[in-house]
Amino acid sequence: MAILPIITFPDKILRKKARKIKTIDKSIKSLSYDMLDTMNDAGGIGLAANQVGVLKRLIVVQIPEEEEPRIYINPEIIYREGSRMVEEGCLSVPGFIGTVERSIWVKFRALNLESKTVRIKADSLLAQVLEHEVDHLNGILYMDHLSEHEKLRSISEEEYSSTLRPVQKLNQAEDLTVFHPHSESEINP
Ligand SMILES: [Zn+2]
Repeated sequence: MAILPIITFPDKILRKKARKIKTIDKSIKSLSYDMLDTMNDAGGIGLAANQVGVLKRLIVVQIPEEEEPRIYINPEIIYREGSRMVEEGCLSVPGFIGTVERSIWVKFRALNLESKTVRIKADSLLAQVLEHEVDHLNGILYMDHLSEHEKLRSISEEEYSSTLRPVQKLNQAEDLTVFHPHSESEINP
């Protein structure tokens, strides 16, 4: 197991679409464990393979209240419902957070490391992280979802370390269902 360097914005690899994994072999398993190490080391709750420079459809998730990490291969959001505004950050965009629109709940499907299909219905923080990570695999960053009136804002290093899990923190406070049309981000961290 190893801690991998995390690719940061504006590296172009973050804008590329990751490819489907056909065989879940040793290399995929070892990559997923390395990604877990990397995510935990950085204090994150989710990481997509693009973020460590690998264009494969693999994500890892570790929700604070859950003991077991989640490892998902070829993940898909197959249904989403509702809309809420939540604050969000990303390990690939250090030092910034922004308010984005996410679903109230989602249906999600993926393979696990044993090649079994996993289907889950998720809401709150888990839904938000799954949407965020599947977006990464499609080359989408959370800034793309910034609402019209919101801009990314920079935060101090101290504030950043306390909001490395911003989604969790803000999730509790935010319960808005106002819909804002997407706009181009004007951020240049
Ligand atoms: Zn991210």
